[in-house]
Amino acid sequence: MTAIRANYDAPRLRRLDAAHHIHPFSNATQVVAEGGGKLFAHADGIYIYDTDNKRYLDGMAGLWCVNVGYGREELVEAAARQMRELPYYSSFFGGTTPPTVELAAKLTELLGHGLNHVLFANSGSEANDTVVRLVRHFWNLEGKPKKKAFIARRHAYHGSTMAAASLGNWGTMHEQADLPLPGFHHVEAPYWYAEGGDKDPESFGIACAKAIEAKILELGADNVAAVIGEPVQGAGGVIVPPKSYWPEVERICRKHDVLLIADEVICGFGRTGAWFGFETLGFKPDIVSMAKGLSSGYQPISAVAVTDRIAKPLIDAGYWLHGFTYSGHPVAAAVALKNIEIMEREHLVQKVAKETGPYFAQRLKTLEKNPIVGEVRTLGLLGGIELVADKKTRKRFEPLGHAGTVCRERCLANGLIMRASFETMVLSPPLTITKAQIDELVTLAGRALDETAAELL
Ligand code: PLP
Repeated sequence: MTAIRANYDAPRLRRLDAAHHIHPFSNATQVVAEGGGKLFAHADGIYIYDTDNKRYLDGMAGLWCVNVGYGREELVEAAARQMRELPYYSSFFGGTTPPTVELAAKLTELLGHGLNHVLFANSGSEANDTVVRLVRHFWNLEGKPKKKAFIARRHAYHGSTMAAASLGNWGTMHEQADLPLPGFHHVEAPYWYAEGGDKDPESFGIACAKAIEAKILELGADNVAAVIGEPVQGAGGVIVPPKSYWPEVERICRKHDVLLIADEVICGFGRTGAWFGFETLGFKPDIVSMAKGLSSGYQPISAVAVTDRIAKPLIDAGYWLHGFTYSGHPVAAAVALKNIEIMEREHLVQKVAKETGPYFAQRLKTLEKNPIVGEVRTLGLLGGIELVADKKTRKRFEPLGHAGTVCRERCLANGLIMRASFETMVLSPPLTITKAQIDELVTLAGRALDETAAELL
């Protein structure tokens, strides 16, 4: 598809932006001081362009979501067709629409292992809030109303609403809203490079899983509802767990009758080289939350899938008073269905597993020769580049976050979008990226890292 080049009055828009628009997760002081934010105008494939027509390789696929790449005419048509036919109808009070039902069925086919029932929402945060409400309802129905505590991990990000942010573990987010809410607990994450000490990765993985068990025992299994985790922690810094971790977490959850929730908002839809991260990492969750890659970001939509065991009491109980006006929105569902069709037709998941994922790993690893790169870790098309002041001691730059900000700015100057998660540069390019484009990404990232090293060392 040829990118549309509308004629924007960028100076005017930037002025309006500074005056009227409070950006999410942004430094508001800086946006205002700089006379407005950065305006992106159009995109094609893996490239995005600003209003000056400067081209950036989007190493983040938007916010980890544009899995099939930009400029997909088929998705535009799917939305337009559905808008003409039925732009909106709700799924409240037993009604629904054809694409909503088709999508629910398709997701259960992709998920497998008894995850046969799907609820819809509009964002990852809403999906995870739905999970919290659903799990509480479930244990009440099971006659175990004391089972209410949630155990999540440090460095977790599960969204921005009150319950989702409570599941997450970002200090400043918590401080700014007096979170977490009561009943949300956090234990060690399997972040071997930063926190593994002298343990080898696999025994560290087991130790982190045991930290979950210790928390279950401390709270009392009768009080613990569920454990939630991203298969690979994304926004926390692409923390790829040791192989030993997830099977042990699953064993512990089963032993104590605690539900296991996979937050697949980033890992789902091919990112790790399988449809879902739980497949790559070897565990079977009871509940799965999904968003982002579900529609490749072309429409806001999210979903929660649950097993028969969880769905049965809910269904038997009749009314459950939960949902959103736009749950199962027909246009978003039609786009998600077409997005999945494209992924299947182009064998994108297999490509990540067999071709682009291994090539990305091999090429990105070459950046470890840079003096400020402590570790490169990848899984599928997720990448993390850990910045350190001293490779031997793994000491970080100070103040924390500064090196990441410098590197992110150097990336932008070089035409690459690579995000900083504290001291880790993170990557999640569209799954359509070719080997030649991976070479380009690594060249640009290498240049930005060299410039960052020259500035900081
Ligand atoms: N869960 C994970 C793992 C995420 O990475 C995110 C967003 O980045 C969310 C949940 C929240 O999704 P949303 O921003 O759509 O609310």
